[in-house]
Amino acid sequence: MSADWACGAAPRSTAEMADAQRRVTDGALYWAWWGWEPWEHHRRAGGTTGAVDGSSHWLHQWYARLHSEELVEQMAKAGVNMAVNHFFKGFGLEHERTEQERTAQLVQLAHKHGIRVIGYCQLRSLYYETFMLEEPSAENWIQRDPFGRPIVWNKQYFRWTPCINCREFRDYQKRVVRVGLEETGLDGFNFDNCMSLPCYCPRCEKAFRRWMVERYPEPRDLFGLGTLEGVRQPPAPASDARVEDPLTRAWLRWRCENLEDFAGEIARYARSLRPETILMANPGYPTRAGMAVKGLWPVNIGQHLNLMIAENSASPEVLDDKVISQIRAYRHGIAIGYRPASTTWAGGVGREASSEASSALPQSPYTVKLQVAEAVDRVAEGRLTARLYGSTYVAMSAFQTKENQLAVHLLNYAAPKAAGPLRLELGRTWSTRTSARLMTPEGANPQLTLARQGDRTTVEIPSLDVYGILVIG
Ligand SMILES: [Zn+2]
Repeated sequence: MSADWACGAAPRSTAEMADAQRRVTDGALYWAWWGWEPWEHHRRAGGTTGAVDGSSHWLHQWYARLHSEELVEQMAKAGVNMAVNHFFKGFGLEHERTEQERTAQLVQLAHKHGIRVIGYCQLRSLYYETFMLEEPSAENWIQRDPFGRPIVWNKQYFRWTPCINCREFRDYQKRVVRVGLEETGLDGFNFDNCMSLPCYCPRCEKAFRRWMVERYPEPRDLFGLGTLEGVRQPPAPASDARVEDPLTRAWLRWRCENLEDFAGEIARYARSLRPETILMANPGYPTRAGMAVKGLWPVNIGQHLNLMIAENSASPEVLDDKVISQIRAYRHGIAIGYRPASTTWAGGVGREASSEASSALPQSPYTVKLQVAEAVDRVAEGRLTARLYGSTYVAMSAFQTKENQLAVHLLNYAAPKAAGPLRLELGRTWSTRTSARLMTPEGANPQLTLARQGDRTTVEIPSLDVYGILVIG
C-alpha cells in the first residue's frame, strides 16, 4: 500500500492534483474509531468520556489490545480498511510523543493488513497543565470571552480553547501535521471539533473590523453607519431565531469565512507535504440550525475535506411517527464533494439510550444494521448519479426522463455573476452516453462534449448564467 501514497512522483498539474486528492477516498470505506483518544485524556477527564470509563482498571489492557496485531488482523478480516487512532489531543507534542510512537507502530501493522490510519487531532482544546510548560507563550494563543477570561472547552476548566486567528497556533498545528506525516507515517488526519466559538481577543476584534471595512466600502446604506472603523464584534445571538441586526448578520458571515481561512491553510499545508493526505474533520454537522455562530457553513469547510464526520443523535429509526435519518448529511456531502462519515449516538430524550447516557453506543443489532444500510443506500452509485464540480453556488438535481435520458437541472444562485467553468461527472450507468445538450432560457442550447477517461465520463460546461438543463442522451 505504501507505494500508492509515496511522495516524489512526477510533477502534476493542479487539476491532476485535485483529482488525486479527491480519489484518495474513492471506493468502499469501512472505518472504525479504534483508539480515538490517548489514554491520558480519559484519566485526566475522569468519569466516562466517549463511552470509555476513564477510571477503569482495564484501561491499559484495552489500549494494549487496540494496538496489537491480533486485533488488526481481526478488523481487517471483518472488512475494516480505515482506522482513526489517537495522535494529538492538546497535551503538547512532547507530552504525547510516547503514545504517538505507539500509533506509529500501529500504522506499520495496519498497513501490512491493508488498513489506512488517520490520526486524531483535537483543534479546540489545549491542556494548559502540560501544554503551557512546553509552550510558555501559549497563554496568548487562547480565546477570550468579552470579559477577557480564557474560554474553556465544554466546561472543562483544564482545556483552554485556542484562537484560530493566532499565527503561533496555526504554525503549531502545521508542526503537528508535519510530525504526523513525516514521523508517524499517518495516512491523514481527523480534525475533531473543527469549529470555533466566538472569541473577543484583540486579534479577533482587529480581524473582524478589517474584514468589515474591506467587505463593505460603502456601509451607510447597509448599516446606517458612515464608517465601520469603530465596530466591535456583537454578542452571539441567544437563540437560533432569525437575526435582524445587520451587523450580527455580517459577523456570522465573517465567522464562517474566518473558519474556512483557518481550515484551508491547514489543509493546503498538509497536501503540500503529501497531496494524497486524507483530510477528515468533525465539525459536529449536521445537528441544528444556527451553526454559523460556530463559524460553520458546510460548503466552506467541506470543500477542503475528503471526509466529514456527521456526529449527532440522528440514528435512523421511526420515532413517534417521524423518520429520523442522516439523509441531510449524505445529500450535503454529495452536493459539496466530500464523503460523510456517519457517527450517530444513541441517546437523547425518547431515544433508546437512557437520559443518563446521552452518548451511548447502539443498543441493538437493528440500530447497527440500519446505519450501515442507510450509508450504503445513500452513497451507492444509482442510475441518476452525477457530481458537479467548479462552483459551490450552483445547485443540482437530476431526473430520468421518459425517453431514458438524464436531465440535470442547474441553478446558479450567484447570478448575475455567471458560474463556470463547471464539470459534471456522470455515474457509471450514464457513462457510456454519447450526447449532451445544455438547454437554457436564453435559447443558445449548445451541444457539449462528453469526455471519457477510464470508466469516468465528464462534461465541461463553459458558463452558466442563471438556469440550465443538461440533457444526457
Ligand atoms: Zn481570538
